[in-house]
Amino acid sequence: MSSPRECSFAIFDLDGTLINTEAIVDEAVVSIVKTMKKSISEREIFDAAEDCRGQRPLDASTELCEKLSLNEVVNPVELLTKCSEKLQWDGIDIPDMPGAARLLEFLKRKKVPMALATSTSAKELEKKMKSATVNVKSSDESKKKNLLEYFDVICCGDEVARGKPDPEIFHLAMERLGVKREDAGKCLVFEDTPHGVSAAKAAGCCCVAVPSLRREKFDMYKSADRVYHSLMDVELEDFGLPKFEDWREVKTVEFVAEDGDVLSASSRARKYERFLKLDQFLELTGPVIRGFGRGSKMLGIPTANLDVVPLKQQIDKLAPGIYFGFAKLLGENKKTGIHRTVMSIGYNPFFNDKRKSIEPWLLREFEEDFYDETLSVLVVAYVRAECNFTTVENLIERIRKDAKVCEEALDLDLVDGLDEWSDWFDVNR
Ligand code: ADP
Ligand code: MG
Repeated sequence: MSSPRECSFAIFDLDGTLINTEAIVDEAVVSIVKTMKKSISEREIFDAAEDCRGQRPLDASTELCEKLSLNEVVNPVELLTKCSEKLQWDGIDIPDMPGAARLLEFLKRKKVPMALATSTSAKELEKKMKSATVNVKSSDESKKKNLLEYFDVICCGDEVARGKPDPEIFHLAMERLGVKREDAGKCLVFEDTPHGVSAAKAAGCCCVAVPSLRREKFDMYKSADRVYHSLMDVELEDFGLPKFEDWREVKTVEFVAEDGDVLSASSRARKYERFLKLDQFLELTGPVIRGFGRGSKMLGIPTANLDVVPLKQQIDKLAPGIYFGFAKLLGENKKTGIHRTVMSIGYNPFFNDKRKSIEPWLLREFEEDFYDETLSVLVVAYVRAECNFTTVENLIERIRKDAKVCEEALDLDLVDGLDEWSDWFDVNR
């Protein structure tokens, strides 16, 4: 057993951890590299770009040139210049990562000193921050807040001689926070890349990783103290920080650890299932499409799939996972009313899907299928991260338990704020 962790400072990486710039950067890199070397496939470029994440721009560019053998057509500095020119941060809305606003807001409220330690240069950071705001729901209104307001100190990639995986940027952050080198263990670092995790651990800090790499590469995060599926799942108390107060327990449903998942100390200690009301409910509406045809057949649990493509921007605001809420059909089945609904929004690790799907299970029996009818789902709470199972039976048992969490939470009126959605609940409209 390692000694208990006693953190009192938090240090954050930016890209991929707090904000989602991945897609924007990848697109620029792919379009530039493709014009320079036609023989390379998009897939190869994406894979190489993924391996270079977390480093300072020039280091990433150097590694990318090596990996893709671009050296005969371009040098790393030129490639970087071309990419920076292509990347226009102004005017685009950079989404924050799921759970980022909640985490930052909570730590701020608990007066935990916070640092930003980003590989981005100061100039680039200024450009990005013009667009990146976090939506924070205060007592009565939803206001937009600039990310940088949360941080007591900010450290940029061009302020250090060596970038991540070197620990220098974390040493700088500690110095600015007033933490001595020998007290590095008091800092909890949040990172999304293996390079970032290596840097944090080399600095002696505690480190949680929320991987942005594909699932099959998760073992690259081995040196992290904990790996979470998203910021929603972070258990601060495992690191001696204040515990989130917004999880609600559902007392009739006992907690059973999932297989295939590395569980943290606090989840092992947990007795009951729980859920987290979303700060902002999310409405997803579209026609019911054909899914993989396995819901009813294989699991005995039919899921009325929605097309993710037109809903992509909306679901990217949610961590992949299991949610509950309500659903209503707007076509022939309109008269059936409002139905409690459990849904998976994500990649279904058990089936190893490559693309996200939205799979609502309406908690009532229907006599017939309702493909092509318009379905509107209101997502109100998060239950858990996606996880893998060793058998189909375990998967089924878990889904049934998720449904019980939904039913008990709604039976006992544990989700407030539904009245604000009275228009949505009015089926006659
Ligand atoms: P698919 O893979 O095509 O989604 P499923 O086996 O998951 O197939 O079955 C889903 C279909 O079953 C839905 O599209 C819907 O038409 C129908 N259905 C019947 N009852 C329900 C229910 N309670 N919840 C969701 N879908 C249901
Ligand atoms: Mg389905």
